[in-house]
Amino acid sequence: MKQVIIFGECMVELFQLVDNVYHQAFAGDVYNTAVYCKRSAAQQLNLKFLSAVGTDLVSDKLIAQLEQEKLDSSLVFRSKTARPGLYMINTDCFGERSFVYWRDSSAAKQSLALFRQQGSLAQLLPADVFYFSGISLAILSPEDRTYLFDLIKELKQSGVQIVFDPNYRPALWPDADLCRANFDKAYALSDLALPGLDDHKVLYGSATAADVLAQLQQLGVKEIIVKNGPAGVLGYSDGKSFQSPAVPVKKVIDTTAAGDSFNGGYLSGRLNGLSPLASCQYAAALASFVVEHTGAIVTKEQFRSFSGRFNLSTFS
Ligand code: AMP
Repeated sequence: MKQVIIFGECMVELFQLVDNVYHQAFAGDVYNTAVYCKRSAAQQLNLKFLSAVGTDLVSDKLIAQLEQEKLDSSLVFRSKTARPGLYMINTDCFGERSFVYWRDSSAAKQSLALFRQQGSLAQLLPADVFYFSGISLAILSPEDRTYLFDLIKELKQSGVQIVFDPNYRPALWPDADLCRANFDKAYALSDLALPGLDDHKVLYGSATAADVLAQLQQLGVKEIIVKNGPAGVLGYSDGKSFQSPAVPVKKVIDTTAAGDSFNGGYLSGRLNGLSPLASCQYAAALASFVVEHTGAIVTKEQFRSFSGRFNLSTFS
């Protein structure tokens, strides 16, 4: 069975149903990817979530949620001084959504400090893939970021494939220069990169997906998938580039987790032996289903209806 480590933050989500009534769920970029990757692959993957929570009731519920999604929680450390981050999604009278975050002192920020105290490299190995994002990087202290890059170098030397999605969130970085410097380091260590064109437009001034491809090729990334919303993706692997279209949808309901679900589907495809192009096709089908539904994570029942129509074997 393939072993995957997914590093980052899962938060408490409060989603406004009607005025002052909220639905509580758990979400976060890498968590969303982990859920879609595991659901897509059924039995063949063991996904370990590397993170930290507190010792409170909500933290227990978060761990229970990971287990419900069949994610391995053995690398989720417990902080005695912090709790999970939280965000609220409010919808105004025009249907416009806005997000408010309480994550400045979340337990996930202590993940690597706790890993250093209580964990070891041996707990991470053997592994096939280590997956992290620009948000996983942004929430760390500068010292922990340096530690993470060193850890990734060791994992890479042990044959682990490194996968990175920049997921640029300007509010999480003190300035864009620091962010670019960290993303460049992350890319230089990555075997597979899954950037969004919009992130690169804002952060690097890229104009086209081809610009992003050229930039990441220069940094030595061997497999690159540049996501561009309904315009589909520009991919690169085995020295060749390719296009893969998005799957058109009747009505976009909520684009939250479009990129995260695409990444989960793509990873699942690749880890189950699909080609980069076939993995993009499956991932695009999954992401188009996700944008037709509210929230980051579709229900298990909704996912079953999706997999009744499309699954990895449809594209193999
Ligand atoms: P993005 O992160 O916005 O580039 O989206 C990631 C993936 O989600 C895209 O590569 C598409 O496969 C899918 N996607 C996003 N928006 C749409 C849309 N409006 N219609 C269909 N698919 C979409």
